[in-house]
Amino acid sequence: MFNQKHLELFNNQQTPFYYYNLELLQNTILAIQKAAPKSYHIHYALKANAHPTLLKPILAAGFGADCVSGNEVKRAVECGFKSENIVFAGVGKSDREINYALEQNIFCFNVESMHELKIINELAGNKGTKAGIALRINPNVDAYTHKYITTGLEENKFGINPYEFDAVLELLKELPNLNFLGLHFHIGSQIQDLTAFKNLCVRVNEINKWFAQKGFLSKNINVGGGLGINYREPDTQAIVDFEAYFKVFQSFLELMPEQQLHFELGRCIIAQCGSLISRVLYIKEGINTNFAILDAGMTELIRPALYQAYHKIENISQLNSVANKKYDVVGPICESSDCFGKAVELPLTQRGDLIAIRSAGAYGEVMSNRYNLRDAVESLFTGSLS
Ligand SMILES: *Cc1c(COP(=O)(O)O)cnc(C)c1O
Repeated sequence: MFNQKHLELFNNQQTPFYYYNLELLQNTILAIQKAAPKSYHIHYALKANAHPTLLKPILAAGFGADCVSGNEVKRAVECGFKSENIVFAGVGKSDREINYALEQNIFCFNVESMHELKIINELAGNKGTKAGIALRINPNVDAYTHKYITTGLEENKFGINPYEFDAVLELLKELPNLNFLGLHFHIGSQIQDLTAFKNLCVRVNEINKWFAQKGFLSKNINVGGGLGINYREPDTQAIVDFEAYFKVFQSFLELMPEQQLHFELGRCIIAQCGSLISRVLYIKEGINTNFAILDAGMTELIRPALYQAYHKIENISQLNSVANKKYDVVGPICESSDCFGKAVELPLTQRGDLIAIRSAGAYGEVMSNRYNLRDAVESLFTGSLS
């Protein structure tokens, strides 16, 4: 929720920029710590936002790092995450990335194909070391989310499919430089219906038992991330109901003795504490449509253009006025998809007004780019401003 203090602070800044509320991040972390049983291992998915300032409180909370590139592993290492708390996933790890992660002696590679198992075994052998691996399983569970962010269906590129399991176990027996640590699952992102996680638990139970019966006991079960947030109500639901989320796993997951449970949360930790702050450059009155043209565009926040994602848009220069006019809120980039929202109800909006695009802490700044030779986007952090 923005107030006069934010307005004064933002008015002195060059726009556009990302604004992060560190107090909300801290409160979100505390809510996770309160809701999760002590035995659970929580990792943060760096791909949602890898800014060192944001990683600090996450590291301090004792969370591990879930990385999907060699450079994310490097960022985690540089920011102080211990190697035994770093995991590395992704369908296309390059030799260079694998070698770097082996040198850092990370906890685990989440391996997505039989071919990758062979390559990691070979690269580990070249270094005279062993790689800890978990098998990323494609559980064929529908996450009921946007098709670009669902990952756990057979037709997706991610993970090892059940029809390959027998062959994988045969292969594992032949690869001496791999240390089998367990099973990994991640079914998609922005999942708001907890039924999807319940369905995941049911599949994990079956698969976990199957591997154990074959003599491959999984010391670690990693159920991934994907918990969604409320993009429509960023203030009334700033923090996700973590209790309800963890309860699903407590109720439906059947862990065997000694099995450790891991999570990899990204969006639900970092999304709500970030907003993209921008200024209105021009108002263009059309016959049926009014446009508010901002100095931020899809180069700063690509989610609306990429996944038709909804972000709440507020005019924070007119906090006390009622929204009574509709605008298509667009950016300056030479692409028709460069639009943050259509027919957005705002108060009468003028050149120079500050516009906040909310819930942009996850998959915002990390996806920003320099198309049209735009300047790199800056960020601003505050603690309490109430
Ligand atoms: C993206 C990703 C996550 C985090 O997803 P969120 O939806 O941001 O929670 C976790 N694990 C893996 C393997 C991922 O690719």
